[in-house]
Amino acid sequence: MIRIVRGPEPKGLATARASKGKVAWTAYQKAKDRPDPTGYQCAKEALHIAQNKKCAYCEMVVPKGGAPVEHFRPKDGAFRHMRGAPEDLDAEHYWWLAWSWENLFFSCVRCNGKNAKGNYFPLNAGTCAAALPATTHATLDDALAAWTPDHGLLIDPGVDDPLDHLRWVPLNPSKPPATWIWTLKFESSGLSKGRATKEILKLEEFADDVVARFEKVLGDFERTFGLTNGRANFLRASKLRSKKWSDLVNRWMGPKEPLRGATWSMFDALVPEPTRTACNLPLPRP
Ligand SMILES: [Zn+2]
Repeated sequence: MIRIVRGPEPKGLATARASKGKVAWTAYQKAKDRPDPTGYQCAKEALHIAQNKKCAYCEMVVPKGGAPVEHFRPKDGAFRHMRGAPEDLDAEHYWWLAWSWENLFFSCVRCNGKNAKGNYFPLNAGTCAAALPATTHATLDDALAAWTPDHGLLIDPGVDDPLDHLRWVPLNPSKPPATWIWTLKFESSGLSKGRATKEILKLEEFADDVVARFEKVLGDFERTFGLTNGRANFLRASKLRSKKWSDLVNRWMGPKEPLRGATWSMFDALVPEPTRTACNLPLPRP
C-alpha cells in the first residue's frame, strides 16, 4: 500500500453530487432515514488513472471494467468491530460521503468485498463516531462543509503514508536474501492502524505475490551488481554504482509497477538506510 494523490475532483462527480446528492439530501431531510446513494461511479475513470490502474489497498494492477469505486468511509453502514469480533453495525453512517472525492478510491473486487475492507470502519479506541449531518442544512454541500470527520482506525492512503504504519520485512534478515521469509510489520502498541489494516484487509494473503516479486528484484539486483546472495559491499566506491542503483530503482519502482510499497521495503532491506546515506543512494518513498 502506498500514499495516493488523487488530483482534482472530476467535474462529473460534482454534477452527481448536485443531482443524485440533492435527491438523497431531500429524502433524508423528510424521512431522517439513510438514502441509498447512486451515481458516484463517474469518479472511477479519474481514480483509475490517478492510481496508475492499481487497487488502493493491494496495489495490484486491475482492469477498470467490473471493478468498484471504493468508499473509504462506507456508504451503507459501518462495521465498528474488528474482524472476528461480535458484529457492531452503525447503520446510519456514511451515506452523505458517497459523492465526496476525498472518500473515494479505485479498488479491486477482492479488497472492496466483504472478506476484505467491505463495510469495515472501526474507530480509534476512546473516540466517538461522527455526528450525523444536521437536517437543518439547506443542501448536501452545506452539510458536508459543516461536518466533522471521526478518527478511523484503518490506514487512509489518501491521507496517511502507509509505510509509516505497515510494511513487508524479512523475518530472517541476517540470512542470505534468497532465503528471506517476508512478513508484515506494524506498530506493536495495541490495536494500531497497521495491525487493524492488515487484519481487516487480510493483506498477508499477498505474501506469495511479494515473494514472487522479490525473486525477480533480487535477481536483477544481483545481475546489476555482479553479486551472489544479494550482499553488496556498497561502501567500496564504484564509479557506476549510483547510476546502476538509480536505474535499478527506477525499473522496479516506477509509478505503474505493482506492489511499490513492498518493493520499496525490498530495496530498504537489501541496502539499509545508513548504507544508502553513506553512499548517497537515494530511495524515495513511493
Ligand atoms: Zn486490491
